[in-house]
Amino acid sequence: MDFSSVEESYVTLLCDQVRAAAGNDPNMGVLEKKLEQMAKPYLRVALERLVQERAGNVATRCPRCNTALQVEARMRRRKINTKFGKIALARAYGYCETCHDWQYPADAALALQERAPASPCVQEICALTTLRDPAINVQEDTRRLTGIDMDPACIHREARRQGERALALRNADTKCTGTLQGVAELAKRAVLPTAPFTLIIQMDAWNIRERNDWGQTEDLRKAGQEPKRWHWVYTGTVFRLDQRATTASGRPVITERGYVATRLGLDAFREQLYAEALQRGLLQAELVLILGDGAAWIWNLAKERFDGAQQRVDLFHVSQHLWAVAHDLHGHGSPEAKAWVAPYLGWLKQREDGALDVITSLEQLRDNMTALTSPQREALEREIGYFTEHKKRMDYKRGKALEQPVGSGAIESTCAQYQRRFKLRGQFWSLEGDEAFLALATLHFNGRWSSLFPHDDDQNPVA
Ligand SMILES: [Zn+2]
Repeated sequence: MDFSSVEESYVTLLCDQVRAAAGNDPNMGVLEKKLEQMAKPYLRVALERLVQERAGNVATRCPRCNTALQVEARMRRRKINTKFGKIALARAYGYCETCHDWQYPADAALALQERAPASPCVQEICALTTLRDPAINVQEDTRRLTGIDMDPACIHREARRQGERALALRNADTKCTGTLQGVAELAKRAVLPTAPFTLIIQMDAWNIRERNDWGQTEDLRKAGQEPKRWHWVYTGTVFRLDQRATTASGRPVITERGYVATRLGLDAFREQLYAEALQRGLLQAELVLILGDGAAWIWNLAKERFDGAQQRVDLFHVSQHLWAVAHDLHGHGSPEAKAWVAPYLGWLKQREDGALDVITSLEQLRDNMTALTSPQREALEREIGYFTEHKKRMDYKRGKALEQPVGSGAIESTCAQYQRRFKLRGQFWSLEGDEAFLALATLHFNGRWSSLFPHDDDQNPVA
């Protein structure tokens, strides 16, 4: 690298500073760390200068509606926490007569948030680290990796703020599903192969532990109530059949897929899943296949939002139903139960209308076995009902032949991915907090991170 004499003297200066600070016999880590520390003040001053320059060039127009502002002050100061330390910024501020609101156009142009001191890079660091672990656990690692020392409450608050932004983006997408134009807009985002394709949608629900009624436990118990702490998180995943692959070790993987997760109930989930499916090729797919377990809400939702899609109930879930009958008839874990269940499982997998054969056989058992106890008879009735209800969703032979999934492994791994962060032991969430973090995690899983943090766009996209 050819340096000018000015640049050369800067390098010499840094080396001198590090030599003075690093002590005797420093290892390379010490040199790296010290160099970073010594360069920081220069970077901080340079950043402050550049930020101020940029702020000065921003027109005093409303960032929301572009109306010229009634300028109230030209040099209103604020402090910002950056990667290189605290800097100060003075910028104009004024009133928008269209929005009836006070605005700082430079803050909007610099991607600074109202009453939040974090620079965009610091916002991102807080958001990324908190997605992996609660803020209390990431403080020390964050300090070591970035040199930024923030207390856990600040990290959490900042990450939460980014969650709110993710939530706003998600809400904008969901709102699109309400109009034809919006639907077309979402569908246009789909990046698709030229060949006809099958779109798979899977859904499930799991529990999250929440901190509502916090501090009221005693009062509630006195009143004879238990605080309600567990709530459903509805979760979905969307991918194309051609996005499934196998690793070298034979493990099935999905190379790319859409994620949806919400605590806000089924109506919210349905619209979020629809918005995600549109962005993954719902309208362009040759075939749409929905997979789930036996839960009624899944099939109601499928009918409401994905009418005309093919439906399939998870084979593992179905076989558990057969195992339950086997155990009822022949004793739990007995060899007789095992022998009884085998042909049924075989019919489901190998016969065109295997479910009908199962139903016929169960009905014959019910009608012909004289020694049935009444719980056994009830169990048989219940399972005949189950198979009758879902028989059209049990086309496993055809599914296998078309190399389609017959189980809901993809959604189970999706739920597990969320649970690794949201189901930590001893962890509580609040409705607002967990929804914001769910939205943030979902944005990240969906590969849309740069819609919140475009400053990294020239690099590799965040996986
Ligand atoms: Zn305005």
